[in-house]
Amino acid sequence: MANPCRFCDANCCKSYMITATAFDILRAMERAGRPADGFAMLHQARLLAFDPDTTLDMEDDSWTYLLGFKSHPCAFLDKNRCTIHASAPLSCRRYPFQLDGKMNARFCPLPSQLIFRIRGADIKADMMKRELEAHKRIVKEWNAAPGRKADCMDFLLRRAREIIASGIV
Ligand code: SF4
Ligand code: SF4
Repeated sequence: MANPCRFCDANCCKSYMITATAFDILRAMERAGRPADGFAMLHQARLLAFDPDTTLDMEDDSWTYLLGFKSHPCAFLDKNRCTIHASAPLSCRRYPFQLDGKMNARFCPLPSQLIFRIRGADIKADMMKRELEAHKRIVKEWNAAPGRKADCMDFLLRRAREIIASGIV
C-alpha cells in the first residue's frame, strides 16, 4: 500500500515543536553525523503541556528538561521528506499514535493515515515508554547533581550512552 506521507506536505514536521529524549538525540546524531548542539536544544517540559505524550511530569519544574530540535520546521525535513526517518524521534515514528494507542491526527490528513496506519505504529509504545522513563531518571539525576555546573545536554547524552551500554533500555 502506498505511503500517504509521499503525497503530504509534511504538516506534522512543520506544525509541532519536535521534542525528543536523550536517546532520540543520540540516534539522530549518529544518523546525521552532526554534534547534538548543531540541531538540538533543551526545552522546559512545562512549555510542552499541550502534548501529554511527551511532557515530563517532574517535581521541580524549573529543571524539567526535555530535549528537542532547534529548528521549526524540522531541520531534517528536505522536500517534505524526513532525511533521518529510521533514526527520527520515537514520537515522530509513532505519529499520529499516542502512547495509549489512540490516534491524535491534528495535523495529519486523517483518511489516508487511517488506511496506512490501520495496523498501528511501527514503534511499540513500550519501547517509547522505557526511553521516556529512562530520560526522566537521568533528568532527576541532573536535578540532584551538586551545583549543576556541567553542561546539561552533555550530562543527559553521556548518561543515555551509559544506559544503552548497560542494556537497560
Ligand atoms: S525528525 Fe523527521 S519525522 Fe521527525 S519532525 Fe523531523 S523530518 Fe519530521
Ligand atoms: S504523518 Fe500525516 S501529516 Fe505527517 S507526513 Fe505523513 S501524512 Fe503528512
